[in-house]
Amino acid sequence: MAGEGQLSDRLRRCADEILRRLERGILVALTGSGVSAESGIPTFRDRGGLWDRWDPEQVATAEALQKRPRMVWRFFQELRELAQGARPNAAHYALAELESLLRAISRVVVITQNVDGLHQAAGSRTVIELHGNAGRYYCMVCGREHPAPPLTLGELPPRCACGGVIRPDVVFFGEMLPEDAWSEAAAAVERSAVMLVVGTSLQVEPAASLAYQALQRGALVCQINLEPTPLSHLAHYTFLGPASRLLPALVQRVRELLSERTPWRRAEDQATAQASGGGD
Ligand code: NAD
Ligand code: ZN
Repeated sequence: MAGEGQLSDRLRRCADEILRRLERGILVALTGSGVSAESGIPTFRDRGGLWDRWDPEQVATAEALQKRPRMVWRFFQELRELAQGARPNAAHYALAELESLLRAISRVVVITQNVDGLHQAAGSRTVIELHGNAGRYYCMVCGREHPAPPLTLGELPPRCACGGVIRPDVVFFGEMLPEDAWSEAAAAVERSAVMLVVGTSLQVEPAASLAYQALQRGALVCQINLEPTPLSHLAHYTFLGPASRLLPALVQRVRELLSERTPWRRAEDQATAQASGGGD
């Protein structure tokens, strides 16, 4: 198919440019819920099912959590039920593989808006969680950490021994991002030579601004998404389609190009990585 041939060429050119750029910095992957969609976790902007009944911008807010914690928890339990048992998909594994493939050349930092822990489950080692992790819980009054409440919990919201409402350690709309995560993310973008933007509509700030910062600093920006976003016409490469297909395809080209390099070139990569502190 002509379309497939063209895609293959573009993926190869993109992979080649990624490798050349990485001589000057690190690779940052900014990911969103689209990466986990094929693991069965619905994105916020998908239509149907959960979103016919809930609008996350109404229920996943700081204000709702204060004023209507039972409603927020009903929504959250439904989401947990859907996400139950989710496993990483080929897109998560491709990013983890990219990290080990590039090990001698550069560092890979994953900055994710997802709260599902699937990048870590797939083996990515440097993952910055901008919006927290839905596997952690704490009391809104005394701050004590709590285990995940059972999905079958009858009386919502779950409460701490002190009487306070227990909440997931995730960032709700209207809340600040965890400071450490944000400064680590900004620092990673400052060092980036390449940014992959995968499965995010880029409608949630300040996460989205990281993609534009990468562009501004002159990084090569490559987007993989099911549909176009405001970044699409600015990115150097935009691949439209499922992340579970396109990300492994891109990583495969990187693998091929690396294996075509001479042993002499590979030794040089290693030396460059050590000199720039890019390796471990
Ligand atoms: P979003 O719902 O705004 O956008 C998802 C994007 O992914 C869309 O542009 C869509 O076209 C694309 N997409 C859907 N399926 C895809 C696929 N298979 N391959 C490639 N792209 C695909 O999500 P967002 O940008 O991450 O922002 C929403 C907020 O919701 C974030 O703050 C995030 O924390 C939260 N959220 C997290 C999870 C999770 O942890 N898995 C799930 C839902 C929402
Ligand atoms: Zn408490």
